[in-house]
Amino acid sequence: MPYSEKPYEFVSFPPGPNRYEPVGHHRFALTAGKHTGMMEITLTARRPVQVASGLMDVIKLKSGETAVALMTKIRRRVYVIPGSSLKGAVRSIVEAISPSCVRIVGWRTRPFLPRRMNPCSQMKNLCPACRLFGMSGGRRENYAGQVHFEDAVMVEGRPVVVRTPLLWAPARSRRGLPPRYLRGREVKGRKFYYHGTMAKGPDARVAAGTGSI
Ligand SMILES: [Zn+2]
Repeated sequence: MPYSEKPYEFVSFPPGPNRYEPVGHHRFALTAGKHTGMMEITLTARRPVQVASGLMDVIKLKSGETAVALMTKIRRRVYVIPGSSLKGAVRSIVEAISPSCVRIVGWRTRPFLPRRMNPCSQMKNLCPACRLFGMSGGRRENYAGQVHFEDAVMVEGRPVVVRTPLLWAPARSRRGLPPRYLRGREVKGRKFYYHGTMAKGPDARVAAGTGSI
């Protein structure tokens, strides 16, 4: 664990993505070993889940302190985890545990990514994650994938204010990836934060100032 206040680790890359042509949507191709259907799932938040609305707000706490929160101004609030967010979170795990490409990679990180892990771009040549979740490869080569996620609506509990340092994506500085992300000239792997271990440490602005992120 490189930084105790930011509990993350790297998941190393496979020898290469296992690419082939997806089954498509134009025919019903349920052969042995394949599955179709719908799953109804109940999620239990074992640790705080933050879903940003994209709006800024200021709220008053009992201690008299004010904090900046991201909440909507709509009076009757329905709290959801958007299906697109869930899909992205599940996809990132599927990518890490299967021989799949790195779909989302920033331009500062890309030079350090092993070339074999570059995102799939051809419809006839897709890794497991791109076949399942879809891909947009440019040049009109797009695939819708085989799964769909609906929004998860909160049915129990209430929102609370929790302080946490921001869990940044890698390489936010203009200098690119810091040495602790690299093995030689290549990135060590996919960055994952530990589940069940809350990040500690100073407020995000302090962390940014001291360079501890
Ligand atoms: Zn792929």
